[in-house]
Amino acid sequence: MLAAKIATRTACHRHWARLSSTAAAPSSYKVVVIGGGAGGLAVSSTLSKQLGKNEVAVVEPSATHYQQPLFTFVGGGLKSFEETYRPTSEVIAPEAQWINQAAAQIDPDSNTITLADGTKVAYEYLVVAAGIELDFAGIKGLKSAIGKNGVASNYSPQYVQKTFEFLQNVKEGNALFTMPATPVKCAGAPQKIAYLADELFREKGIRDKVAVNYYTALGKIFAIDKYANAMNEIARSRDVSVNLFHDLIEVDGAAKRATFKVLGSGPQTGETVTVPYEFLHVTPPMKPFDFIKNSDIANAAGFVDVDKGTLQHTKYPNIYSIGDCSSLPTSKTAAAAAAQSSVLKHNLLNQIRGTNAPAAEYNGYTSCPLVTGKNKLVLAEFSGYTGAPQETFFFNQAKEHAFSYWVTAEALPAIYWSSMLKGTWDGPAVIRRFANPTSAN
Ligand SMILES: Cc1cc2nc3c(=O)[nH]c(=O)nc-3n(C[C@H](O)[C@H](O)[C@H](O)COP(=O)(O)OP(=O)(O)OC[C@H]3O[C@@H](n4cnc5c(N)ncnc54)[C@H](O)[C@@H]3O)c2cc1C
Repeated sequence: MLAAKIATRTACHRHWARLSSTAAAPSSYKVVVIGGGAGGLAVSSTLSKQLGKNEVAVVEPSATHYQQPLFTFVGGGLKSFEETYRPTSEVIAPEAQWINQAAAQIDPDSNTITLADGTKVAYEYLVVAAGIELDFAGIKGLKSAIGKNGVASNYSPQYVQKTFEFLQNVKEGNALFTMPATPVKCAGAPQKIAYLADELFREKGIRDKVAVNYYTALGKIFAIDKYANAMNEIARSRDVSVNLFHDLIEVDGAAKRATFKVLGSGPQTGETVTVPYEFLHVTPPMKPFDFIKNSDIANAAGFVDVDKGTLQHTKYPNIYSIGDCSSLPTSKTAAAAAAQSSVLKHNLLNQIRGTNAPAAEYNGYTSCPLVTGKNKLVLAEFSGYTGAPQETFFFNQAKEHAFSYWVTAEALPAIYWSSMLKGTWDGPAVIRRFANPTSAN
């Protein structure tokens, strides 16, 4: 039945024939991948090897590729910033054509995209992997406050080094850590840095003078109960105050004050609360990029509207999407993109080759390694579709563990460069088969 979901190549040929007869495109490719991030490279590396040189183009405006999951460690002073990036030219597969520009428009009816400089690129198949946009302007005063006077964010390569610099300057007062109401990538990262800060303040002997406060716009500390229970206990034991339903709406950088709107349905709902800070770590609101949101391939929320099993577009059969820009209703992480990548590649190559193999189906797997200190980490792994834990190892991963820390801080970063970006890592499912065969936990 799933095989039927993958529309045939014929449908795409119809699109293509229309394009060929009308357009004078300066370049055309069998597959165009928009975005050379974690998901885009995992897909384009394999496809370009399978389909041959210059059949696959990667549209990527940035000359630098960042391994973003490492940003938390940089912010906490546990890794150097230099470990997080490599030149894009070195991580794009040599068989793929790198188009060093941003996509500005997608026209799925003519099988073309328009680049920022106005040139058009034609495709037979399109993979959209552009990630999600950080919206620092979405909070009043934040754009002018960030990067100065104790305001930082691990979410941007521009400000991540400021986190550790400013944390070291703290001597007393409030350290605030925020989580917005919008979808975000790695929904655990807003609180991970609070635990690293707590540890740093303890090491410096100033913990009794610094209050560590986590403010989240959401009604829970973590979406999945098993890990939410663990994180609530860790926060309690570390004296990290958790303020639910508090959405950061304004930063006054000069006065060092953060204002929150109270959400939910409690007695304070609708009121605002202003808190002075010495240090403020902001997770900015995030939103789909306009060029996707304003196109015909977006759903009402602005994400690429794909089937949650096959990753194929619900209306345009020659379009797929992966990662943070997709409508897939799971937690947005590199771990999720890795698991999605093998499904996407299987289904797209089936379609291109006209094979009738059964479609692969993504089950919502995602992972959030919640680092809580040096050598301590809660390794949340679950399906965003069912909420059920999908732990790789035999022990209870909701417990802080040095091995989980090693996996996240050492093994996964190496796998990211050597395997995920080369298209040969699709997540730990294969390890789970022998490391946790009974899925006991
Ligand atoms: C602080 C932090 C901590 C994180 N921790 C973890 C973690 O522990 N574990 C985990 O699994 N994940 C983590 N993540 C999330 C993870 O990095 C993302 O979910 C993952 O990178 C998503 O992959 P993607 O390909 O969808 O998007 P990205 O990797 O963001 O790639 C998108 C690419 O598209 C490009 N692009 C943007 N606009 C355009 C355009 N107009 N045209 C063409 N290209 C464009 C961008 O330059 C970028 O290269 C973390 C992220 C952050 C910021």
